[in-house]
Amino acid sequence: MTAERTIRTPRDLVEAGLIGREREEAISRVTASYAVAISPAISRLVDRDDPDDPIARQFVPDMAELAVMPEERADPIGDSTHSPVTGIVHRYPDRVLLKAVHVCPVYCRFCFRREMVGPEGLGTLTPAELDRAIAYISGHQEIWEVILTGGDPLVLSPRRLGEIMERLAKIEHVKVVRFHTRVPVVEPDRVDAPLIAALKGSGKATYVALHANHPRELTVAARAAAARLIDAGIVMVSQSVLLKGVNDDPDILAELMRAFVETRVKPYYLHHPDLAPGTSHFRLSIEEGQALVASLRGRVSGLCQPAYILDIPGGHGKSVVSASSIEAEGGGCYTVTDFRGNRHAYPPKG
Ligand code: SF4
Repeated sequence: MTAERTIRTPRDLVEAGLIGREREEAISRVTASYAVAISPAISRLVDRDDPDDPIARQFVPDMAELAVMPEERADPIGDSTHSPVTGIVHRYPDRVLLKAVHVCPVYCRFCFRREMVGPEGLGTLTPAELDRAIAYISGHQEIWEVILTGGDPLVLSPRRLGEIMERLAKIEHVKVVRFHTRVPVVEPDRVDAPLIAALKGSGKATYVALHANHPRELTVAARAAAARLIDAGIVMVSQSVLLKGVNDDPDILAELMRAFVETRVKPYYLHHPDLAPGTSHFRLSIEEGQALVASLRGRVSGLCQPAYILDIPGGHGKSVVSASSIEAEGGGCYTVTDFRGNRHAYPPKG
């Protein structure tokens, strides 16, 4: 059965054929801790005949989420360490996160902010909190870019997004506004003319970073939603999380990156999964991640190469963790490895 409304409860999961009735009670222990939402577009994508379906794995709750490892933490990337006022994370000098809302159209089982998002999460900024957040941005001349994230900022109504954009428009030193979202994939119909007008409302350069992790997510409807944004002058980049059982396969990863490029979405970030509570079943080792990312070299166009990124726990920011293909040999000499694994001297000898 295909659900045509968002699935939110264990009973909904049973009725949509996403879990067996015998699992309903056990899964309710997971949903008591972490929110569930599976939009109709995502529910339709799930192959119910495949017990290892990579779409289901991202959104259908699993008992493995109750196993919390000692190294996992509620705030894995250290947002709170760099939050001068509610709703703002100021980690790097020239940019801030503006977390206006902590609600999403779907809840990803591996979410790095899973302790903050959802109906029981931090909610939406109050008018007074938003005033203070905007005043903070306005008062810091070094802020060149504002990144709206959350939660998913595109769940806000075009009216509310438009109001935020109008206020950012008045801040001279802000030049770029970026949105991080899953909406074009999980609710493509939401990307309509009023939403697009709101996103462009600041007159600043608008970027949209699209979160997708498996090539099947780039459906005809999702590609059309991205095209509406891009044709309106919005630049799109991708962000994906490297996830065991979803995209930890060279062919799938290559197909995902190609699907982004075909959609005119430039591959940008490939995140190593964060140490969020109850997500160890999604994590692979850094070495496995490096090997997967190295497999993209030479195999797919340079346009399809994302940066492999680790968010250092504790709020220390992002670091590129791809394996280096060059080794210093001393005396200005190096050994460079090509995409076939062959090693070459640089500069060439003789
Ligand atoms: S859409 Fe983003 S913030 Fe929302 S649950 Fe997924 S990863 Fe977390």
